[in-house]
Amino acid sequence: MMLPKHLAQKERAQGLKVVRPGDRAFLPRADWRRDTVASIVEDQAIVRLILLRAKVERSGALTRTLARIRALGMMPLIVEPIGSFAIHLRAKGWTAIATGEDIEHAEIVYYPPYVVLCEHCCGFFEPTRDDTWDEKKALAEYQMKFPGAKLEDCSVVCDPCYQIIMRQ
Ligand SMILES: [Zn+2]
Repeated sequence: MMLPKHLAQKERAQGLKVVRPGDRAFLPRADWRRDTVASIVEDQAIVRLILLRAKVERSGALTRTLARIRALGMMPLIVEPIGSFAIHLRAKGWTAIATGEDIEHAEIVYYPPYVVLCEHCCGFFEPTRDDTWDEKKALAEYQMKFPGAKLEDCSVVCDPCYQIIMRQ
């Protein structure tokens, strides 16, 4: 088990911005102990939750933090959860993905249940099915490019890839 300061150093070495409790509103000191470590991948709007030490277990600290990250339009990832925490996440629909180019950088990262894998770029994204998403229009556009495409197919390509496909 690596110490919090070593985990933080490892994140900085990858060019990521380390966040400790109190640094950002999504990681308040009221909820998290000092040894908690997170980091931000700025250009991808990702928050990596690396070492989570709630002040009070089962008091909703993680739920609040995840909601705040999502409200910022960022995606929370949970890095290398261990033991019962990993089992809990999988039961809640989180997806475990092994990443890293070599042994030294290999890690298991958990993706939240509301994101899906883009079939075009293999990146995870959150389908934009909010009030502004016009189901009929999206389907009609998609079917011009892919005759016979179904509505479900529209959500398996992320926005940037969708734009690229439509321009081709
Ligand atoms: Zn994509």
